[in-house]
Amino acid sequence: MSEVVVVDSRVGVWREQFEDVLDAGATDYEAVLDVELGENLPGLRRELRAVYRRRSNVNGILVRMDHLDVGIATRASADRDAGTAGEAATVDPGSSDGATLPGRPGEYRPVVFACAGTGCAAKSLASFYDERTAPRCPEHGRMAVNLAAMP
Ligand SMILES: [Zn+2]
Repeated sequence: MSEVVVVDSRVGVWREQFEDVLDAGATDYEAVLDVELGENLPGLRRELRAVYRRRSNVNGILVRMDHLDVGIATRASADRDAGTAGEAATVDPGSSDGATLPGRPGEYRPVVFACAGTGCAAKSLASFYDERTAPRCPEHGRMAVNLAAMP
């Protein structure tokens, strides 16, 4: 790997945007979540919680946007109370008597990507599937969706 560090100013903006769910002191993670550009804080929080609900062995998730590392959300930081000031109360779309609310669904199934390299265990999670932004193994290149590993 090259030692050149490319500073992308968007990372700082995203870190600030998502600081409520990130743990600035965390260094360990067992999963990577590629988040769609334009995702907002409540959406990211839901995605992180969905991963943590399904994967009890994961205690740190590296959040990535556009292939850039944004930060690590620990189980505790992802679960931090969102508070009530400034943010709309979390409403379960299914609780509204059959009404269909606009917006994105509150439940996610993370997409599991795995490297096809022989003997390679590289895996990655994404909250969406897009051919163009499929995660890459640093050694073997593009990863493929692994249906067998889907939660
Ligand atoms: Zn690989």
